[in-house]
Amino acid sequence: MKINIVGGGIVGTLSAFLLSKFGHEVLIFDPDSPGSHASGFAFGEMSALEGSGIPDPLLEFTLSSFNAHKLLIPEIEGTSGIPTNYQRNDKLNLAFTSEQANRLQSEIEWQKDVEGFEVSWVAGKDLFDIEPLLNPECIGATHIKDQSSVEPYKLTLSAATAAEKLGTTIITRGITDLIFSGDECSGVKTESSEHLADVTLLTMGPWSKSASQWIGYEIPVRPLKGQILRLDAPGININTSVFHQSNYVGLKPDGLIWAGTTEEEVGFDENITNEARDQIMMDLLTMIPSLEESRLVNHTACLRPLCIDSMPIVDKVSGFSNLFIATGAGRKGILWSAAMSHGIVDMILGNASDIKGLEHLKLDRF
Ligand SMILES: Cc1cc2nc3c(=O)[nH]c(=O)nc-3n(C[C@H](O)[C@H](O)[C@H](O)COP(=O)(O)OP(=O)(O)OC[C@H]3O[C@@H](n4cnc5c(N)ncnc54)[C@H](O)[C@@H]3O)c2cc1C
Repeated sequence: MKINIVGGGIVGTLSAFLLSKFGHEVLIFDPDSPGSHASGFAFGEMSALEGSGIPDPLLEFTLSSFNAHKLLIPEIEGTSGIPTNYQRNDKLNLAFTSEQANRLQSEIEWQKDVEGFEVSWVAGKDLFDIEPLLNPECIGATHIKDQSSVEPYKLTLSAATAAEKLGTTIITRGITDLIFSGDECSGVKTESSEHLADVTLLTMGPWSKSASQWIGYEIPVRPLKGQILRLDAPGININTSVFHQSNYVGLKPDGLIWAGTTEEEVGFDENITNEARDQIMMDLLTMIPSLEESRLVNHTACLRPLCIDSMPIVDKVSGFSNLFIATGAGRKGILWSAAMSHGIVDMILGNASDIKGLEHLKLDRF
C-alpha cells in the first residue's frame, strides 16, 4: 500500500517505521525536519503511573505503551544506528505540605499494585539518602523505581532515520489540503504538488485542528506551550528525576540539568520568555536550592498537542474509508507514542491490536 503521513513528530515517524517494516510505501510530509517541535524538545520522562487519564481509563493503554517502547526503541536504534539514551531511572514526587503528602500517599494505594514498578513513601533520612541535595523543607516523597526516560530529539531522529532506512521518504513540505473522491481520501496537496495514496494518516500534533477544515468537522486539539531550561552545574549530581506538582528537574545523559516547565495557553507561539525562565528557576530552587549557581546553557519552548479531554485520539476519521488520525497526547506524547503508533498502524492494516485501551481514544467521543 502507498501511505501518506502528515506530520513528522514522534507519532508520525514511529508510525512510518512500523508501516515501512511491513513493506508499505510511506511518505512523511512536514514543513520542518523531524523533531523540530514538541517531539524534539520534551523532557523525555516516561512516567507510567501518573498524568491525565491515569489510572482511569488509561492505565492499561499507558502500560501497553511503556512496555511497547522496550521492544520498539532497541529496534529503531538497531536499524538507524542512532542511540536514544533510553534508560531506566527512578523518580521522586515531592511533598512540601501535608495536603500534598496526603494526595501522593492516596495514589500509592493503587500505584503499588501495578506490576513492574516498586512504589513507596519515603521521608526523613531515607529520602535524603536517595537525593541528598533536596530542599530540607521537603516532608516526604513518592519513590517510584524502574521508570524509563529517553532523549526525545534523539528518539525522533532515530525513528525517522530507521523509517528512511526501511524505505520511507521524508518530504519537507506542509500539507495544505486533502484530496477526496466520495468517501475516500485519495491523497494530499502541498502548495505546488499532489500526492495520491491508498491511505492518509494525520499526525500533526497541535496543528491537528487545521485538518478540521479539510474533513468538515472539529478536531478538538489545541496547543499548550511548555518551556524547559538546560543548565550546567559542574559537581552537582542528581540521582533521580525529581518532580514537584507540574515541575521537574533531572540530570540528563548530555551532562546538563534539565528543568521545567510551564503550561501556557498562548496559541501557536513557540518563543521563549524571561517570565517562564524566572518561574522555572524559582520552582527548581524550591526542589534543589543548591542549583542557584547553575549556568543557563539552553532555553527551549514548544507546543504540546492538548485534546479537550486531555486524552489522545487514535482512530479512523469517521466518514472516510481510508483516513486516520493519531494526535492529542498532551504532556505524555513521548510515553504514549509507542501505543499510539502501534494502535493506528494495526487499524490501518486491519490487524487485531495488542495495545489495550484503544476503545477510549475514539474520535466520535466528542
Ligand atoms: C516542555 C514539554 C515537555 C514535555 N515532556 C514530556 C515528557 O517528559 N514525557 C512525555 O511523554 N511527553 C512530554 N511532552 C509531550 C510530548 O512532547 C508531545 O505530546 C509529543 O511530542 C507530541 O508528538 P506529535 O508527534 O503528536 O506532535 P509534534 O511533535 O508536534 O509533531 C507534529 C508535526 O506535524 C507537523 N505539521 C503540522 N502541520 C502540518 C501540515 N499541515 N503538513 C505537514 N506537517 C505538519 C509539525 O511541523 C510537526 O513536526 C512534553 C511536551 C513539552 C512541550
